[in-house]
Amino acid sequence: MTGPLSTAQIREKYLQFFESKGHLRLPSYSTVAPDPTTLFTVAGMQPFKEQFMGAPAVFDGVANRRVTTAQKCLRIGDIENVGRTLRHCSLLEMLGNFSFGDYFKQESLTWAWEFLTSPEWLGLDRARLYVTIYEEDEEAFRIWTEVNGLPADHILRFGADENFWPADAPKEGPNGPCGPCSEIFYDRGPKYGNDTWAEYAETRESARFLEIWNNVFPQFDRQDPLPDGTPVLKDLPFKNIDTGMGLERIATVVQDVYDFYSNDVFAPIVARVAEMSGQAYEGPQSVSHRVVAEHIRSVSMVIADGSVPSNTGRGYVVRKILRRACRHAYLLGLREPSLFKLVAIVVDRMGDAYPELRENLAKVEATVRAEEESFLRTLEGGIQRLGKLLSGMERGATLSGNDAFVLYDTYGFPVDLTKEIAEEYGISVDEAGYAESLENAQNLARAGSKYGKSELFGGNMEALDGLSPTVFVGYDDLQAEGEVVALVGAGERLKHLPAGSEATVVLSRTPFYAEGGGEVGDTGRIEWDGGAGVVRDTRKTPQGVFLHDVLVESGELKEGLNVRAVVSGERQAIQRHHTATHLLQSALRAVLGSGVQQKGSLVAADRLRFDFSHGAALSADEIAAVETLVSRWVSANFTVTWQEMPIADAKAAGATALFGEKYGETVRVVRVGGSVEYAGQTVSSMELCGGAHVTRTGDIGAFVILSDENVAAGVRRVEALAGEQATAWVRDRLNAAARAAALLNTSPDGLEARVTGLQTQLKAAEKETAAVRRQLAEAQMGGGAGGAAQTRELGGFRVATLKLAGIEGNDLRAAADKLLDQSGADMVVLAGDKGLVVKATRDAVTRGAHAGQLIGKLAAAGGGKGGGRPDMAQAGVTDADAALGALDTAF
Ligand code: ATP
Ligand code: MG
Repeated sequence: MTGPLSTAQIREKYLQFFESKGHLRLPSYSTVAPDPTTLFTVAGMQPFKEQFMGAPAVFDGVANRRVTTAQKCLRIGDIENVGRTLRHCSLLEMLGNFSFGDYFKQESLTWAWEFLTSPEWLGLDRARLYVTIYEEDEEAFRIWTEVNGLPADHILRFGADENFWPADAPKEGPNGPCGPCSEIFYDRGPKYGNDTWAEYAETRESARFLEIWNNVFPQFDRQDPLPDGTPVLKDLPFKNIDTGMGLERIATVVQDVYDFYSNDVFAPIVARVAEMSGQAYEGPQSVSHRVVAEHIRSVSMVIADGSVPSNTGRGYVVRKILRRACRHAYLLGLREPSLFKLVAIVVDRMGDAYPELRENLAKVEATVRAEEESFLRTLEGGIQRLGKLLSGMERGATLSGNDAFVLYDTYGFPVDLTKEIAEEYGISVDEAGYAESLENAQNLARAGSKYGKSELFGGNMEALDGLSPTVFVGYDDLQAEGEVVALVGAGERLKHLPAGSEATVVLSRTPFYAEGGGEVGDTGRIEWDGGAGVVRDTRKTPQGVFLHDVLVESGELKEGLNVRAVVSGERQAIQRHHTATHLLQSALRAVLGSGVQQKGSLVAADRLRFDFSHGAALSADEIAAVETLVSRWVSANFTVTWQEMPIADAKAAGATALFGEKYGETVRVVRVGGSVEYAGQTVSSMELCGGAHVTRTGDIGAFVILSDENVAAGVRRVEALAGEQATAWVRDRLNAAARAAALLNTSPDGLEARVTGLQTQLKAAEKETAAVRRQLAEAQMGGGAGGAAQTRELGGFRVATLKLAGIEGNDLRAAADKLLDQSGADMVVLAGDKGLVVKATRDAVTRGAHAGQLIGKLAAAGGGKGGGRPDMAQAGVTDADAALGALDTAF
């Protein structure tokens, strides 16, 4: 084969290997996890949580307790490491093989060994493999040493902090499947470091020994610990296997490159960053190239999967990653939006494996560009603020670390930039103080995320102490007057907020809906005498204090001011999508059965998304039936009403509640005032819900389902549109069909027949060219027995050789088969224009012939690289004649 395996080839080999061991190959699930407890998919096993707990292992109707996937994962916890360590990505592809109560440790570890070391698969050098195991796991030790033959001094034992998954699960949680694990490391050699494996036991950090693959043995169901803290590990009903190998890391090893930024996926992105910025990829600034390249890849993927930058939840993470990339692009001197230009390269490198990237290219580019523009504006606000600070200081003074931090946190202003600008004023920056403020904020944020709180102001909830819950009037009114009761920026209460700055504003009354129950927070404007601002997002604290993210456009906002708050027109679209979501849920239950349970949802102005439990893809008929049901409700123009009531009454009335959700004593019930008929059932809609709705179903307008996909095992995701958005989408599709039809000289109705006809023609034409190529090969071979071939004795074998002009790839291989079959030679060596094939008979192989070794020498002489199996090998060369010329000396 030519050169080392590409990332795509490694991915494919892995999946094929485990298919050959009886696994069912499934496509990657979305990075946007349906599970409300995790924002993103962080490991290959995550979509199979239910199967690990004993749910039936049936996937789209196929039962199999062995599954293999390449799963795209987003690891937020590793974001700060990206660009600094050379082994962490925020987006990673995890190659995994899973057993749901089927095989266990022995198969898992021996197959891992076979895949890594067998020349048929990755063929890595056994002497360079090392492993860690859980300190009490004698079974793993035995399999590694006795079955796989790994020397005992290649094995280290660690505690639950390292060799348990999730780490420290017995003591710290989370609840759910967990177990000991065994990690496989690859020794990248002394050029990466002088440390030894024994030293790794102490250092646990190495550029030389790279962790490539974790084999986890989930055999326990972790439960809440006893009151005295004793861990509770219940045996799972059966034992599982969960493994994960980082594709980026294994590609780095196989391609023997310094880090994954030099592999075949990242190198072109890094090169483009260097080209756009005019900054070479070298020295300390190379961190910026890396951050940009890595982050644009992850952001492209999560946006393609349906996340958009915002100030809360998943959107907040997307914004954070993207802004980090923007900052580094800025450091490289890029002053105009430019990251969006990299999206096309990401799609080029990964679009084959993840078609959703290709489908959403335009959307991703537009989203990234808009965010870049807004970021660059914010940065300008920061430059103004910094200018003000600096002009009030003396030369030789020091800017406080906290000021530098506020610039960073509020305006996304990199400290390096602050330093650079301050220097022009002869002012230095207290970097230690900055680092301290940053660390405080990070600790707070971490503490916040660990306990599931939102990341408000870097976690500083104290800034909100003493505020009463906001009066929310936005179910009925989209405009209201309120008083500014607090302004908070970068964790501090502020008295006033000048034009150009952004902070969180608390009002006494508000019409703005705060993100919750799947519905996005409202956007809009606030206005006061002499000023105005944009509301970019709205959230609320668990205590009911509404937080508006506001950018002041003109005038100055002050505590105590009375403002007029006006919700943007997008709210109509949000309400349409919310009521439509309720109807969708009822319709799905009517059409698919009562097994449909809501697993997650998103209600936004531009679309709705609904995740629900269901084991199979929706058929075209089912989708049509669901749409028809919803449109019956719409045409009936029923009233939609809401009412607060005790939870017991709501349940007695049959309102749909979210399974597993904790509700208070009083709940809000949203009811559609009429029902529709479907296949003899009367279908109605009544749900516990705090969201904003239309007042009549007729307001929803058109309704269309865009897609149905699988986001976790047994969980489907439907995306749909209502109202204008639906009509515009349908119009778009009709136009696209009309354009395609025009290209093919037919009408949209005639498209199918025309395409089928073209496919038949294409197949016939392909058959014809294949026949012509075969004839061409045969003519050059000089008939059946390969009369044109030269045969000589070399190293004890009869070797037939021939050059075939214009023949490549499959045809070259087929010609080699034929020649080997008919010429009576032990080995054949065939050259095309740019390729070589060597084959040997079985008998010759037993006598020591090796096609792979021979081709390696020939390819080297022909300016290429190659290797392969003893009976068959292929290589690409630049000079086929030179390769053939080396034959006599190659034995
Ligand atoms: P590390 O200690 O190096 O951060 P980990 O222990 O977090 O790795 P696991 O959670 O066990 O890794 O994930 C399984 C595999 O996924 C790892 O062996 C590695 O190959 C890969 N992997 C994990 N995190 C990352 C990341 N941030 N970037 C790239 N690959 C990763
Ligand atoms: Mg990690």
